Amino acid sequence: LRMRKNVPVEEEGKWNDGGSILSEKRFEELGISPMTIKALTLAGYSKMTKVQEATLSVSLDGKDALVKAKTGSGKTAAFLLPAIETVLKSSVSGRNKRIPPIVVLILCPTRELASQTTAEANALLKHHDGIGVQTLTGGRRFKDDQKLLESDPCQIIVATPGRLLDHIENKSGFSVRLMGLKMLVIDEADHLLDLGFRKDIEKLVDCIPRQRQTLFFSAAIPKEVRRVSQLVLDREHVFVDTVG
Ligand code: ADP
Ligand code: MG
Repeated sequence: LRMRKNVPVEEEGKWNDGGSILSEKRFEELGISPMTIKALTLAGYSKMTKVQEATLSVSLDGKDALVKAKTGSGKTAAFLLPAIETVLKSSVSGRNKRIPPIVVLILCPTRELASQTTAEANALLKHHDGIGVQTLTGGRRFKDDQKLLESDPCQIIVATPGRLLDHIENKSGFSVRLMGLKMLVIDEADHLLDLGFRKDIEKLVDCIPRQRQTLFFSAAIPKEVRRVSQLVLDREHVFVDTVG
């Protein structure tokens, strides 16, 4: 879980305008799994970013959130930490299954963003036995995706919309696994919609349980983003806005 180049956190935790990206709150205060804390420490994460602090207080409480936050604010951990807690809570009986239910689905606009997210998830899962993450993007042959899904148990899927729908529409076994879904994460919603994935998101929502938690992230919230957010989020969702 190396910090990527040219990100604010590397510049001593400051944005270009001089404001700090970090909060004063430490991850230990969240009451999440010690195995995750261990991985965070190894990654050099001790204090939460402001977006993480604001989002985690809502998401770990089980509530839906619409999060407006800019690039480099630490959104990945903001959704991966509650995702891992959700798997821990739900998979007691699914743990030893070869093909467990998919508990968390993370939707990303591009293959690259999906693989970065999976890499961060793997780092945070380092000390968690029996929790797996798989990427479903256009990067592999469909058949090879299927083989991996059958051989490597996973409860967390990181996907781009097109390939995800291929699996849902072509493999009934995959749809069955989605019936256990507890959390949907939409990352970079504005970017997803710019790429024309609105219809795909609408289709997806029809294939997953209504009773779930949804975390929705976007750098900006123009009309189209708001409409899609209303489609996927609970009416009682919390709006998290973290400017400055
Ligand atoms: P975003 O998705 O909002 O653009 P990322 O989740 O990719 O942001 O995080 C941006 C950078 O900050 C990454 O290099 C990540 O490793 C680092 N980072 C995230 N959270 C923390 C933290 N709490 N402490 C230190 N570095 C962090
Ligand atoms: Mg991101």
